[in-house]
Amino acid sequence: MPLIPENIIACLDCDLLQRVSSLPDGATARCRRCGHTLAQSKPDSLNRTLALAAAAAIALIVANITPLMGLSAAGRHSRTTILGGAREMWIQGQEIGAMVVVFCTVIAPAVHIAIMLTVLITARRDPVPYWAGTLLRWSNRNQPWAMVEVMMLGILVALVKIADVATVIPGIGMFAAGVLVALVTAMTVTFDPNEIWKRVEWINGEKRPGSTGGQSAGIAGKRSANVGPVTGMKRGLVSCECCGLLSKPVDIHGPGKCPRCGEKLALRRHNAIQRTWALIVAAAICYIPANVLPVMVSKTLVGAPEGDTIISGVALLYKTGSWHLALIVLIASVVIPLAKIMALAYLLITVRHRSMKGQRERLRLYRLVTFVGRWSMLDVFVVTFTVALIQLDPIISIKPGGGVLFFAAVVILTMVAAEKFDPRLIWDSNNE
Ligand SMILES: [Zn+2]
Ligand SMILES: [Zn+2]
Repeated sequence: MPLIPENIIACLDCDLLQRVSSLPDGATARCRRCGHTLAQSKPDSLNRTLALAAAAAIALIVANITPLMGLSAAGRHSRTTILGGAREMWIQGQEIGAMVVVFCTVIAPAVHIAIMLTVLITARRDPVPYWAGTLLRWSNRNQPWAMVEVMMLGILVALVKIADVATVIPGIGMFAAGVLVALVTAMTVTFDPNEIWKRVEWINGEKRPGSTGGQSAGIAGKRSANVGPVTGMKRGLVSCECCGLLSKPVDIHGPGKCPRCGEKLALRRHNAIQRTWALIVAAAICYIPANVLPVMVSKTLVGAPEGDTIISGVALLYKTGSWHLALIVLIASVVIPLAKIMALAYLLITVRHRSMKGQRERLRLYRLVTFVGRWSMLDVFVVTFTVALIQLDPIISIKPGGGVLFFAAVVILTMVAAEKFDPRLIWDSNNE
């Protein structure tokens, strides 16, 4: 597979070929067509991220072994940890919901931190062994599902909800989870994966490119009115969506795997339009039971068990005076999932019609959809921690309702749908 010089990049959001020269500390290079960040120079990135990852590992352990919060009402006490919350969901018959919670709050964050620690310690060697690249590739897949910050907001909402019926005592675990959120966010800000990719051994045994001579001539930077912008696709070049390496495969329609990180290469994501449609239709179907079925069922000494849907939960928060939390839950749980489905449908339709209008705006919409998607998981965490604490039989007990499962399904389906859509399709009508 012929190699392209390292400073030639195809933008991952619009496929425009451009040359990126070395950047001064703290500088960012953006795509001149769509504004996507092509490269960022972060001073002392690896050492700083390593220190943060080590601290995050400690915070993660403390957050998982100490109680998140305790509750006392009518002489009864209960408390819960993160895993205890998921366990209660499992006991109450929501096994799938429990698994989703464990994966998003414990497994995915732990995998993320463990991989970062391993990769960053290994990166002190030169060259960096190829398996560190493989780990980084796995981490890319895993990271969207690590939702400690969404869980944290879920805990706070549950706390306010419960404070209405009982005295809640925040535990050490909750503060540790707060510290974890700050550390994980700081890790994302300081980490520059390019520092690793530049020095990693290639998975196929080829050496790093360094410079491969004069192949760059004429690849990037040219543009004329009748030819249109020069994209990777036009030149038979394909960029790796994981490590950003640009290569010229022998067969452009079956480009194989990235020679550096092993990611499957594709000119455009495979069957992007059909897959995204299928996933958003499925999400739209699940959206109905998610809103109609109760997400929580509460049973008290007097009266029949009472079901709470997402909307009635919002109304309750509003009535008890927490209008700001009511608004957050309403936006995260009702508005965002529906808006995501509609936004993706709009993007698919405009791509189908090869529309050339508002491409930058449509790309921004796509980025917004991928950015906010995870926050819809909020209500799943609210239910988990409310259920875990309010098990004060026979005075009051709360069980998760069937709506939770459908709700989690909507969030997962729309997140995967956004991942299957290919933003480069938005720009392809310019490239004919
Ligand atoms: Zn671009
Ligand atoms: Zn790659």
